[in-house]
Amino acid sequence: MKVLVLNSGSSSLKFQLLETDAASAAAGTDRALAKGLVDNIGSTAVVRYEPLGKPPVRESSEILEHKIAVARSLDLLTRPDVGVIRDRSEIEAVGHRIVHGGEQFKTSVPIDDEVLRGIEDCFDMAPLHNPPNVRGYRAARDLLPGLPQVAVFDTSFHQTMPAEAFLYGVPHVLYQRHGIRRYGFHGTSHRYVSARLTALLGRPADDPDLRLITCHLGNGCSITAIQGGRSLDTSMGFTPLEGLLMGSRSGDLDPAIILHIMGKEELSTLEASALLNKHSGLLGISGLSNDMRKLLEAEAAGNDRAKLAVDVFCYRLKKYIAAYVGVLGGIDALAFAGGIGENAAAVRARSLLGLEVMGLRLDEARNRAARGVEAEISPEGATARVFVVPTDEELLIARDTYRIVADLRSGKKPEAPA
Ligand code: AMP
Repeated sequence: MKVLVLNSGSSSLKFQLLETDAASAAAGTDRALAKGLVDNIGSTAVVRYEPLGKPPVRESSEILEHKIAVARSLDLLTRPDVGVIRDRSEIEAVGHRIVHGGEQFKTSVPIDDEVLRGIEDCFDMAPLHNPPNVRGYRAARDLLPGLPQVAVFDTSFHQTMPAEAFLYGVPHVLYQRHGIRRYGFHGTSHRYVSARLTALLGRPADDPDLRLITCHLGNGCSITAIQGGRSLDTSMGFTPLEGLLMGSRSGDLDPAIILHIMGKEELSTLEASALLNKHSGLLGISGLSNDMRKLLEAEAAGNDRAKLAVDVFCYRLKKYIAAYVGVLGGIDALAFAGGIGENAAAVRARSLLGLEVMGLRLDEARNRAARGVEAEISPEGATARVFVVPTDEELLIARDTYRIVADLRSGKKPEAPA
């Protein structure tokens, strides 16, 4: 089945056309036929498009709204010279990345009016993400009328967290009245990596004893403790700001700092939010860049602030890994994913340094050699095994979409993807 996957942001649209079904998903041979990005929607947009086995396209033009961006994507997918399908009718379903599903959505679901209302109910909690996600959905609904559309939530994988992990130490009425709790994000990535790890270990998907830690280290970073395929705890919270140090987000900090700084620097709430989300993290500490690759280069050239930023990043990650080994009561395997996790051997090594006491050890040569590919990086015979697992959120969205559509077609109630 050919599935269009849309990830619609405030001024960007990422799209992929993937081919998947039950057999190819089980064999791991399902794949993207084309990938693309429309950036800077609302002004002069840049379109990048990479079809499998054909030359890439890069063009720029005025694209003022998401519907035009989706239309442009469909044009490229069907263009005789660079297209991967003859016409739109070959697309059988659309899968959408939806950032926030609150407590309502614990699995991926087909989108109908009630689901749409539920996604809109979460606007308050994800004002920058859910509204453009819905814009992408409406555009696809108008341009591909009658096609089944499926919502895959960043939060739903973490809905299995117990109350002791998701509650904050604030008056309980704030949870009851305003849903103030930890939700966690990057759920699609953690679920994908956890499933790959389970397969790599040769363990059954529902093995209740299997204890895993998945580290998604990209521009946004989060870490999850998983037992028996269920998320027990994760580092992002009410918003994606909590937890690990990230490219430009602070991660954990004493909440009193915000009140203090807002007074001292006379910041509005919007300015305070920008300070913590856009000017903090690796960028804030180094004063140089949010990009780990640049910081590692600068550190090697003797830049102390770049070194400090990388040190804080690795230290915070180590602290979380150690905490999650405690949460799980031990560990069978850990995976690094995301641009940093998949490529930065030095960050992997520095984050695990000192955790040998928990059985977490790296094989230096294997670690150095693993770049952007699936690989074991722990030594032969290790009790706690460590892997690099390139993540693929779009593939998981396509697989969920396929499964739900197949269930709908066969008259079954759509099954909750595991
Ligand atoms: P993502 O958001 O998953 O695309 O990851 C982006 C992050 O991955 C940025 O901080 C990049 O600097 C980092 N990254 C990508 N490639 C490398 C590399 N070869 N070495 C170190 N960091 C990298």
